[in-house]
Amino acid sequence: MSETPPRTRVVILGGGTAGWMTAAALINQLGKACDITLIESEEIGIVGVGEATLPHIRFFVESLGLDEADFMKATHATFKLGIDFHDFGRIGSHYLHPFGSFGAPLGGVPFHHYWLRQMKEGRGGALWDTSICNVMAAHNKFVPPPDGSTLYNYAYQFDATLFGPYLRTYATGRGVKRVEGKVIEVDQDGENGDVTALKMEDGRRIEGDLFVDCSGFRALLIGQTLKEEWEDWSQWLLCDRAVAMPCEAASATIGPYTGVHAMSSGWRWRIPLQHRVGNGYVYSSNHISDEDAANALIGAVEGPAMAEPRVLRFRAGRRKRSWSKNVVAVGLASGFLEPLESTSIYLVQGAIAQLIELFPIGPVRDEDRDEFNRVTDAEYDRIRDFLILHYNATVRDDSDFWNHVRTMTVPDSLHEKMDLWRRSARVAKYSQGLFFEPSWVAVYIGQGIIPDGWDERADLPSADQLDAAMDRVREQVRASVAPMPDHAQFLRQRHASIERPAP
Ligand SMILES: Cc1cc2nc3c(=O)[nH]c(=O)nc-3n(C[C@H](O)[C@H](O)[C@H](O)COP(=O)(O)OP(=O)(O)OC[C@H]3O[C@@H](n4cnc5c(N)ncnc54)[C@H](O)[C@@H]3O)c2cc1C
Repeated sequence: MSETPPRTRVVILGGGTAGWMTAAALINQLGKACDITLIESEEIGIVGVGEATLPHIRFFVESLGLDEADFMKATHATFKLGIDFHDFGRIGSHYLHPFGSFGAPLGGVPFHHYWLRQMKEGRGGALWDTSICNVMAAHNKFVPPPDGSTLYNYAYQFDATLFGPYLRTYATGRGVKRVEGKVIEVDQDGENGDVTALKMEDGRRIEGDLFVDCSGFRALLIGQTLKEEWEDWSQWLLCDRAVAMPCEAASATIGPYTGVHAMSSGWRWRIPLQHRVGNGYVYSSNHISDEDAANALIGAVEGPAMAEPRVLRFRAGRRKRSWSKNVVAVGLASGFLEPLESTSIYLVQGAIAQLIELFPIGPVRDEDRDEFNRVTDAEYDRIRDFLILHYNATVRDDSDFWNHVRTMTVPDSLHEKMDLWRRSARVAKYSQGLFFEPSWVAVYIGQGIIPDGWDERADLPSADQLDAAMDRVREQVRASVAPMPDHAQFLRQRHASIERPAP
C-alpha cells in the first residue's frame, strides 16, 4: 500500500486580490494535498484599484464553481467587450481593442488582409464595422455569446475592494485559515536559505513549507528577504504614478467597455461599474506633478467625486525570478505593468495556474521552479512589448512625454514584430499567453500603422467578389447586434446589485 504524502503547509502573505485569488484557487484544486494559511494586515491595507479585467477571468470564476450573477452582484460588476482608446495614434483618433476578431478568415487567410487590399484599392469601409464587439460597444448593447460560440468574448469590470472579500468568504468557508496582523520578521533555513516561518507583531510564528508572496509592492519575501533582482523597464514605460478617484455616473447608460484616454503625460482610465465610475490618471512624474495630474483628472471626470484623489506609486518591471527557493511571488510582488490593457489580474491568474500545475508535493524541484519562471518571463515580456506599442505607434508631438515615447528605441523583440507587420501585415505568432492576432491588428491599425503588403492569397477573389463578401460580413454583424438588449437593462434584469434609473 502506498503511503499518503504529507500535507504541504502553504502560507500566503497578503490578502489583496492576488492573495485571495491564490487562496481560493488552491483550496479548490489542492485542498486535499495542503493546509493553507493566509496572513493579511488591515493596517497596511490593499492597493484596491484593479477594476478592469480580461476574458480569462471568466474561467477563473467558473473554475471555482461561482455563479456569475451572484459574483457580479457582490462586486457591482459590469460586462466588458474591450478597451476603447482615444487620442493615442493622434489627437482625435479613436478605436476599440475588441475581445473578438474582425470578420472571419476567408480561405484560411486572416480577414484583415482582405480589408487591407480593399482599402488600398480605394474601396471598402471601416475594419471596425466587421467586429461584433465593436458594434455592440458602440450601441451599448450586451448579451453573452451563445454557449460554445467563439464569435466574441467578454470580461468584467468590478469593484476591486469587494472582489477580495468575496473570495475570502469562499476560501475561508472551504478551510483556508485567515490570520490578521503584521509580519515583522522572516525566518530562513541557515543552510539552504528557504523561508521557514513568518513572525507576527504579536509574537505568533507561522511555519510553512511553501510561501506565496502576495504582499504587493512591498514584496516582503521575494524582494526584501530573498533579494531577487528587479528588471526595470522604465526606459520604455515612463509612467510611474497614478491618481485615482471614483465619481458618480453622469448617465444611466453603462458602456460595456473600459475607456482609455491619452493625456499630456500618460493616460486616463474610465471604468463604469453598476454603482459608480472608476477614474484614474496614470502618468510620468518626470513630466507632470502630482497636483497637476490630480487637477487634470478632476477636470476630466464626468460626475461628482465620490472620494478624494489618491496617488499611487509604482515602477514598471518584474522580478528576474518570481519563484525563488520556496517562495513564489504572485501579483504586485512579482512585477508591475501599467493597467493600460488590464493585464495585472490576468498575470495573477496565470501565475496561480502555473503554480497549481507545478505544485510541489514534497520538496520544490529545480525544474518546476525554472519552468514557472520561464513561462512568467515570457508572459511579462510579451505584455511589455504590446504596451510599448501603444506609446510608440503615434504621430503625437504635442508634449515632451509623447515626443519621448514616439522617438524612443523600442526593445528588439517589438522592433521585429513591427517590422514583420509593416512588410507583410503578419502578426508574430505564439501559442500561449496574451495577446493574439486580433489584438495586435486592432492596435496597429487603430494607431495608424498600415502595412505596405498583405498575404497574396487575398488577391485571388475578383474585386466584385471581395466587395460582396465584405458587405455580407458587415450586414451579418449589424443584423446580429440589432436585437441585442441594452447593457444597463441586461444588467438590471440579471446581475445588478443596485437599481439605477432606466436609460
Ligand atoms: C493604479 C493602478 C491601477 C490598476 N488597475 C488595474 C486594472 O484595471 N486591472 C488589473 O488587472 N489590475 C490593475 N492593477 C493591478 C491590481 O491592482 C493588482 O494586480 C491587484 O490588486 C493585486 O494586488 P496585490 O494583491 O498583489 O497587492 P495588494 O493589494 O497591495 O495586497 C497586498 C497585501 O499584502 C498585505 N501585506 C503587505 N505587507 C504585509 C505584512 N508585513 N504583514 C501582513 N500583511 C502584509 C497587505 O495587507 C495586503 O493584504 C492596478 C494597479 C494600480 C497601481
